[in-house]
Amino acid sequence: MSINSDCLFCRLVQDDLPTYRVYEDDDFIVMLDIHPINSGHVLVVPKVHVDSFYDVEDALYTPMMLLVKRIALIIKAVFMPQQVVMETSGVGNRHVHMHVLPVYSLYDVVPQEVLERREEHSPRAEELMKVAQELAGYLAACRS
Ligand SMILES: [Zn+2]
Repeated sequence: MSINSDCLFCRLVQDDLPTYRVYEDDDFIVMLDIHPINSGHVLVVPKVHVDSFYDVEDALYTPMMLLVKRIALIIKAVFMPQQVVMETSGVGNRHVHMHVLPVYSLYDVVPQEVLERREEHSPRAEELMKVAQELAGYLAACRS
């Protein structure tokens, strides 16, 4: 298994540092985030070190997302939040992991000013079409 001794998450997986484990199997650990946004905020962490989501093999990606869904349903049942959110920022630690957490307000995960700025930002239909076509064109080129 690929382990990076300079990686915080590899050290957590190897039990070099204390964790509050919720679940573990051969491929994943689910642990509490020690700086939770809300109580019940967990991290779903593959045991293997992978730098980014772009590099996750399909054989690992599918069970990871199924585990995220399973954990989300458990959080929903235990905490009965407004919603359960999953996210990954890709910023900071370079060891793929998913945050799964209960939220009681939209502002728990997105700052109010960001949401307000988003409401004010309404691109014209032509601009939206241009972006959609650019992405669709690139996707079509990647398929061939
Ligand atoms: Zn790592």
